[in-house]
Amino acid sequence: MTTFSAVRTTGIYCRPGCGAKPLAENVRTFSLAAAAEAAGYRACLRCRPYRVAQTVSDELPELVCRAVQLIIAGVLDGSGEEALGAQLGFSARHLRRIFFEHLGVTPDQFARSRRAHFARRLLDDSDLKIADVAFAAGFGSLRQFNREMREIFRASPRELRDGRRRSDRLVADGGLVLRLPYDPPYDWDATATFLAAHAIPGVESVEDGVYRRTVSIDGDPGLLEIGPGGDDHLLLKAHLPYWEGVIHIVDRAARLAGLHFRPARRGPGAWGPFEVAVGAVVRDQLAEQEAYAVLRKLVEVHGMPVPGLGHGLTHAFPSAEALAGDELIGPLAQEVAAGNIRFEGQSTELLIRSLAEVPGVSVAAACQVALRVR
Ligand SMILES: [Zn+2]
Repeated sequence: MTTFSAVRTTGIYCRPGCGAKPLAENVRTFSLAAAAEAAGYRACLRCRPYRVAQTVSDELPELVCRAVQLIIAGVLDGSGEEALGAQLGFSARHLRRIFFEHLGVTPDQFARSRRAHFARRLLDDSDLKIADVAFAAGFGSLRQFNREMREIFRASPRELRDGRRRSDRLVADGGLVLRLPYDPPYDWDATATFLAAHAIPGVESVEDGVYRRTVSIDGDPGLLEIGPGGDDHLLLKAHLPYWEGVIHIVDRAARLAGLHFRPARRGPGAWGPFEVAVGAVVRDQLAEQEAYAVLRKLVEVHGMPVPGLGHGLTHAFPSAEALAGDELIGPLAQEVAAGNIRFEGQSTELLIRSLAEVPGVSVAAACQVALRVR
């Protein structure tokens, strides 16, 4: 886990291994960059701590972890801490208290810091227009974007873009390229091998160590590519219908690649939990070749066609509603469509139990799903 150190005398916080060792009595440590910022410290210009993976302790209470997960999913984008508390069954006040006690930030401060850091990385790495960066990072307005970037980085988005390092810029041919930072050790090859073995034909492919998949963003198709980048990051290339809320797409891509904010939960995740469940159930019931044929057919008959992609990618994965009438997968699809199975926001045990109650879903398949969607 990354520990950030802040120096009282300079007011600056760093990632590990940066600069000279200050007197220990002047150093405060934080597990989150957001907490250092909330305590009034500014990011070091040399080591740029906003560019490293942020993880939390595995010892955190479940409530705090679920809150973090919901914030990452965007619950605080358009609404306040009351809405977050309501989803978890607690008052905003209680949530703020327990959140601050364990992470050193309030939920709002955590969400603001994440948005600002993501926007900073887009300003550094991409050529997206400044207005597009604001909406990609989940800011509600340009004014809010300007204000919060000034608060956290002491500079306007325009100044930050003008002052970026030339080597940060990633050139894209039409898409958006971004770094997905991780804390080594991390094994992309093993992850890609796993994803290849569990791929849904027509929707996902792995070639030469690069994972590609179709996505459907509010009904519009897109394409994501994840591949190796460097010692401490993967590269994500995204072709999307629009830039709004890209921060959440990038987070989902990072989770799919196994870069979870809880280090103990590393391991390949899911882009779409329903899709993973369908793959697991079909492969649990049928031999590999037959399962492949059945999955391909489900996708071709019920999925949205996405032409011209190559790499064997042809469709976006169908919705639960679209598969509700299928003989093999219908019972599961109906339960998911009716909202009786919630993949997020409940405990692993409950998820496994609710999945395994569905006709045709074995406990083994349910466990496999739970392992990937946690
Ligand atoms: Zn530093």
